[in-house]
Amino acid sequence: MLKEKEESFRDRIATIDESGKRNWIFAQKPKGKWYSARTYISWFFFIMFFTLPFIYVHGRPLFLFDVTQAKFILFGKVFWPQDFFIFGLAMITFIVFIVLFTAAFGRLFCGWVCPQTIFMEMFFRKIEYFIEGSAAEQKLLAKAPWTGKKIFKKVSKHSVFFFFSFIIANFFLAYVIGVKELGKIITEPVKDHIGGLLSLLVFSGIFYAVYAFFREQACTVVCPYGRLQGVLLDRNSMIVAYDHKRGEPRNKFTKKATTDHGDCIDCMQCVKVCPTGIDIRNGTQMECVGCTACIDACDAIMKKINKPLGLISYASENGIENREPLKYTGRMKLYTVLLSILVIILGFLLFTRKDVDATIIRTPGMLYQQRGTDSVSNLYNIKVANKTIDKVPLQLKLENVSGKIEIIGEHHFIAVKEEGQGAGTFFVILPTNIIHQRKLPIKIGLYNGGEKEDEISTNFLGPVAE
Ligand code: SF4
Ligand code: SF4
Repeated sequence: MLKEKEESFRDRIATIDESGKRNWIFAQKPKGKWYSARTYISWFFFIMFFTLPFIYVHGRPLFLFDVTQAKFILFGKVFWPQDFFIFGLAMITFIVFIVLFTAAFGRLFCGWVCPQTIFMEMFFRKIEYFIEGSAAEQKLLAKAPWTGKKIFKKVSKHSVFFFFSFIIANFFLAYVIGVKELGKIITEPVKDHIGGLLSLLVFSGIFYAVYAFFREQACTVVCPYGRLQGVLLDRNSMIVAYDHKRGEPRNKFTKKATTDHGDCIDCMQCVKVCPTGIDIRNGTQMECVGCTACIDACDAIMKKINKPLGLISYASENGIENREPLKYTGRMKLYTVLLSILVIILGFLLFTRKDVDATIIRTPGMLYQQRGTDSVSNLYNIKVANKTIDKVPLQLKLENVSGKIEIIGEHHFIAVKEEGQGAGTFFVILPTNIIHQRKLPIKIGLYNGGEKEDEISTNFLGPVAE
């Protein structure tokens, strides 16, 4: 029966009560070295988040994730659907990285760099402390009748929350369409940008709803990464953990020297600061986002009662059980090797990626054309993707045979606009005396202003039987 009671925390998440209603978390503001370190990291994150959309390299944003046009810019390099294999490999590398990182370091990402945690704990939660006061004051305010003071505080908080959600939505959109496009939505007549304005309002509403109401549920109920922890973590992973060997049996603090109880004085400070409302002393739980607030809270208590710090700390389950330091296990080594191989391949593909990509195919259904008495021609189609920010007048040259290329149209080149795609049709004309086989392998060089961009191999169909 007691066991059942002890384990009842596993029946439901901490933010839902027995009747299925939301348990609103009034988390105490943490204080300590880990919270300070996270605060500095959050400043760095905010500076990056709010400045990156303004950084342009060679006229291009440093980062752009334009899902509407399937165009992505990473570190100033454009990636098109033609680069899907690089993109696919990058996704696989990223997944392996996540698996390796989580197997080794648990939810370090969630606690320290996840935008949801950073905006919630380091931005909106701080605004809430500023307007509504400490966790205890917030609790009292929630229970208090709707007086003028309460209405003022609630309206102020929600107005500020919505204002910042709107600002964040603007920057979020800047990562998708670029600051220049965003500037047009802001400055040009509303009727020209109805879609853009609607997206802005929708994103603002989503951010406001998440930070004002949904909060930690995003991590405990929605986030797929959080829900994968059960399979990604093992007993050697680094997690925020309570040292039950040292802490149990817990007991209220007494100044008498006793040996029959552990160091935990059951003060509940670790629970009061937890933004997901859990008791870390119950062991590893899916709701723990590794925010370290409970480490700071417990360390402050240990200092007060003159006990060593680290009753709650970064450790592994095996480490606590066997009193061992964190280990670099065989599983982690395997993931590291796999990750290194993927990173090398990805680096090679990125490094050797061409600025101008083309495909050439012989026009289907056509054989060769006789040109006078001494020449033969084949008709080809070319498709070109220009990944640069300049126009490309693409010239074609035969590389391995003597003959000539005739581009159909008014130019003697294929014009491809900047960051765009182009297509054309051309004849390859070869003298009959060099055609000694039915399918003659030929190489066509692609030149941009005299500089060779690529070379494409194809076949030339001739009148000679094989
Ligand atoms: S248990 Fe500790 S580390 Fe985990 S979410 Fe709660 S306070 Fe943060
Ligand atoms: S803060 Fe430390 S001493 Fe207090 S209940 Fe939590 S683990 Fe025990």
